[in-house]
Amino acid sequence: MLNEEYLIAQDCPVCISNDKKLIFKDLVHTCNVLKKAGTLISNEDATSNIYRCNKCGHKYLSPVIKNKYLNFYYEVAGSEYYDTIKDNPHDRIPSDTKKMADFIEENCKGSKSVLEIGSGMGYLLQQLKIKGFNCTGVDPSAFASDFARKEFGLEVFTTILDSNTFKNRKFDIVILCDVVEHIYEINKLISLIKAYLNSDGNIVILTGNSDSIYAKVCAKKWLYFFSWEHISFFNKKSISQLFKNHGLKLQYFKAQQHSGSIWHNSKVFLFTLKSIIANKLGFRNHLFFYMSFDHLITIGKNVQQT
Ligand SMILES: [Zn+2]
Repeated sequence: MLNEEYLIAQDCPVCISNDKKLIFKDLVHTCNVLKKAGTLISNEDATSNIYRCNKCGHKYLSPVIKNKYLNFYYEVAGSEYYDTIKDNPHDRIPSDTKKMADFIEENCKGSKSVLEIGSGMGYLLQQLKIKGFNCTGVDPSAFASDFARKEFGLEVFTTILDSNTFKNRKFDIVILCDVVEHIYEINKLISLIKAYLNSDGNIVILTGNSDSIYAKVCAKKWLYFFSWEHISFFNKKSISQLFKNHGLKLQYFKAQQHSGSIWHNSKVFLFTLKSIIANKLGFRNHLFFYMSFDHLITIGKNVQQT
């Protein structure tokens, strides 16, 4: 049931069509965003649905939590996350960070300047800096951006990107890792990024792949659906539509795991299959299944003059 004080219904955030199919109904999220934002609304009080856009194939959450409450939550949750790592800041999987930097170097040849949106502790930018890129980051977390500046000497701005963040500056590459699935008005963000992108620049995106076999096997219980933070579930068709909206060419697309080795992801996949059977037979009641081989990496190339 839509509680209009806290929640707002949305149409397809990519193509804005309201022609949609309900695919999962009354999803009970596992994170108490509204309680953490100071309300009395529990997860069970505020259920939501997942729709598939009949026009562009995008999957999306509706209703979503209003920005006023979600932003408050981000401040609390963000600081909670950094509280857990601040005594021992470290790159969780350094080999994945290096692989991502190699990927960008390999697929964005001739590029020099990089802007990462949501640069966090700066681990990826640091790897790109070693490769000779001129690196800049923006991140709303004071703790994370301060760490990136002090530890790696990176140029990082503690802010959310807006049209005043940079004066007369453009970049060859803009990176969005684990970002686009959180954004309520994704077309606004891509328009903003385009204003900072050189005429043949690239936007590199890593996000969940809602058309992956794993996501389809997990159906309603895919972990990716269980955070209120995630409101957009892209796939090849909808990311292509997003790029098309902004005069970007789909330069590269690959379905892959978010992180970790093939072996690790395979183990999660097998555990999920076992868990689905256990749920069906009534031995267990797993509420959700962890992530495995369920992401996509893509590059949109600017083919219009900016
Ligand atoms: Zn759509």
